[in-house]
Amino acid sequence: MLPQIENVYPLNITAGTQSILTIEGSNFTSDYRIFMRNGGGGSSSLVEIRPEDITWTENLITIELPSDATELDGLTLPTSGREPIGSGPVILTNNANTITSVDVVNVDYAIINSRYPDFVEDQTRIMQRDANGLKGRTWRIHQNMTSVNSEADACTEQAFCDFNQACGVKYQLDNVEHIGQVIDGNDGVSVIGFVSDDPSFTVPGETFFLGSLGTCADGSGAFRLYIDDIDIRISNNGLRTWDFDCGRTNVIDGANYDFYTALKHEIGHSLTLGHSLTLPEDPLNDIGSQPLVYYGVVIGETNNSIDVGDQNALNDAMSYNTTGVWGGDCPNRIEIEYYADCDILNNLSDGIIYNTLNPFEVFPNPTNDKLQIESTQFEVIEAIEKIEVYSIGGSLLKSIDFSKSGGRMIEIDVSFINQSQLVVLSLITAKNKYNEIISITK
Ligand SMILES: [Zn+2]
Repeated sequence: MLPQIENVYPLNITAGTQSILTIEGSNFTSDYRIFMRNGGGGSSSLVEIRPEDITWTENLITIELPSDATELDGLTLPTSGREPIGSGPVILTNNANTITSVDVVNVDYAIINSRYPDFVEDQTRIMQRDANGLKGRTWRIHQNMTSVNSEADACTEQAFCDFNQACGVKYQLDNVEHIGQVIDGNDGVSVIGFVSDDPSFTVPGETFFLGSLGTCADGSGAFRLYIDDIDIRISNNGLRTWDFDCGRTNVIDGANYDFYTALKHEIGHSLTLGHSLTLPEDPLNDIGSQPLVYYGVVIGETNNSIDVGDQNALNDAMSYNTTGVWGGDCPNRIEIEYYADCDILNNLSDGIIYNTLNPFEVFPNPTNDKLQIESTQFEVIEAIEKIEVYSIGGSLLKSIDFSKSGGRMIEIDVSFINQSQLVVLSLITAKNKYNEIISITK
C-alpha cells in the first residue's frame, strides 16, 4: 500500500523557529525520506529533512521545520550543504515510489539556527552578542572597501541604516578602518570587506559566523549560543563588476551587479535570516516580490528592499534578541551607546549620498528658538565646520560657519525661521555631512 498524504498543516509556517509541520494520511513508513523545496536554490532544487527532525506513525508525520536541511544533488544524492526549507509541496520518496502533496506549504521566512554541539538534536536559536566590550554589534569597514570609492562606503552605512529603520537593530560603525584579514572568526572584530585574491570565491558575498559562536549557561541550566564575531566578505576578484549606485534608482547597468543588493542580503544573514523562497511556485519568474534573502541575484537586477517576509523575520530575530531571559555567565544583551540615527533625507541638494550615521544629537526637537548640537561620540570627535539649514524642498535657508569655533557642543539660533515647518539641518565636518530633520513650531 502506497502512502497517501491527506492533509498538511499549517500551510503558512516558518523554518528554523521550532515550528511543527503536520502531515496526516495513511501507510506512512519510515523507510521513506522527506524532501521539500530548497530555500537556498531555485527551480526544482530540493532539500531532505534530517531524520532527527521527523516523528513517524502510520497516520501522522510531524516535522520540526529546519533551517539546515540537507541539500540534494539532483533529486536524491545528499551534498554537504545545508539550507532552509523553501515554499512548496511535501514529497515522500523511497527507491520505488514518490508521493507529492497536493497542498503547498508557504514558508514565510527562515531563521538560521544551529545544532551545537552537532550531535544535539534540537535546533538552537542563536542570539547576537558582541564580545568586544562595547555591548553591541560594532562593524569595521575594511580599508579595501573604503579605498575602492566613497560610494561603496556610503552604501555600506546606508544598508546598516535600512536595517536600523526596519527593526531597530543597533549598529556602531567603528571609526577605525580594518586592515587585517576580512574573515577571521576569532579576532573579536566584525568586518565587512572585499576579497579579491580568492579565485574560488565566485558568489557575490558571504557571511561568516559559525566559527565564532559563543556558548554560555544562562543560569537556569539552559545552554545558549550567541554570535560574538561575524564577518561579511564581498567578492571583488574581477569575476564580477559592481554598480555602487546604492539603489537610488532602479536603473542598474546591465553589465554589473547591484552592490547594495549583495550588501543587504549579507547583512540580513548576519541577523540570522536564512535563505527564503516565497510562493508562487516558480520563484525564478517572480521578480519584484523576492525576499531580500532570496538565494541569488542576477546581473543587472536590483533586489534590495525588505519585503514582508524579511520584515517578519527581522521582527522575530529582534524579539528573540531583546528577551531578558539570559543570566548566568551569558554576556549582556545588545545595548549600544551610539548608533545609527538614520535620517530619511540623505539625498539632499546635490544627489550625493552622505554618511547618515549621525554622531551628533540635536535638541530640542521641535523648537522655535535655539538648538543645541552635541557630539555623542566617545572616542574620535568630528568638529562641525559648517551648518546649513535647508527647507524640506531643498532650498538653502542659511549657512553658518563654525570652522574656527566648532567644538563638542555648539548652539545655533533658528529664530530666523518665521513659520512652522520641517527643516533639514546639515552638519558638515571635514569628512562627512550629517542631516537631521528638525520641526520648527511658531
Ligand atoms: Zn545568501
